[in-house]
Amino acid sequence: MVSWQGDRWPGKFPGVPVPFSWSCLRHAIFSSCPRAYYHRYYAADGGWDKFADNSAQKAYALKYASSADEWLREILATALRQTLMLQRSEREKSLSGFAQQFRQAAFHLFGQGAVSTRNHEWKKDPKKLNLLEVQKGEIPLEKLLENLRDRLVGLTEGLILCEFFEHCCKVPYLAFKPLKPPNSFEHEGIEVWVAPDLVWTEGDTLRILQIQLAPHQDDEAWRLGSNVCILWAAETFKLLPEHIFCGTLEAASDGKLWEEAYPGHMELEKTRRIISTSAATMLACLPQKNEAPSEKNFPKHSNAPDEICKACRYVDICWQ
Ligand code: SF4
Repeated sequence: MVSWQGDRWPGKFPGVPVPFSWSCLRHAIFSSCPRAYYHRYYAADGGWDKFADNSAQKAYALKYASSADEWLREILATALRQTLMLQRSEREKSLSGFAQQFRQAAFHLFGQGAVSTRNHEWKKDPKKLNLLEVQKGEIPLEKLLENLRDRLVGLTEGLILCEFFEHCCKVPYLAFKPLKPPNSFEHEGIEVWVAPDLVWTEGDTLRILQIQLAPHQDDEAWRLGSNVCILWAAETFKLLPEHIFCGTLEAASDGKLWEEAYPGHMELEKTRRIISTSAATMLACLPQKNEAPSEKNFPKHSNAPDEICKACRYVDICWQ
């Protein structure tokens, strides 16, 4: 366990502890179950050390494990970014040539991840692929990889056929903004992280895109995610929010594989208020001084154990 010293650790922003930052992911996990938030952001601390206790090591491995869907989503987003941002001389001019580059990039990333996880590279480097379903013993690795390869064929071909893909191929490569994660901005002394998949300009508009493998379920959460990205872009690129559009490319439920959707602007003041309130609620669970965050300050959600627990990556350590 790391040592927590000092009065509210002297962080980048006065009065806010060093390990604290805010993101829509943190907000979603905390809102769903404060105990899951504790496991992810505090119990995992120090778990990289082979001499750390077992529970910290396990929480750490679970924190960095990717579900199959998370991995596929990341492959598609990275392959799309790599293909679209190829320099003019390397970039195919025709739609079919461009599609071929995208396929190759996606399956190259898939192959790299498969080799890495077969070799258990994640044991030395948590950023390497560790598939959650395998970690939880739900399915053997080779069987899962076989299933995922088939799914990736369908997902890439569906994406190539969607209108968005054709549209993007016509955007000049210089219009895409290089993204060097992590991307963040400051809000009331708190660092707020965002994770856009693609950002580019079209005329006087900045467009931000996120990719999802399933249709969004919760309109409010979807709008919040989009509007936090708009706040980030307004500050980073010094633009008026009305010149920024943030949408998602998501696998639709009506048989069409990918669909572009824009949630529209939420009142940005409301977005700021949600960030402040959410961050204050999380910070209130932390100790005042010289103590590690305590599990008891992060209760299990009120209906636990239930269906949410069954799908939760921490179920084994939570109910052992
Ligand atoms: S298993 Fe249930 S109670 Fe435990 S962290 Fe997960 S969602 Fe929360």
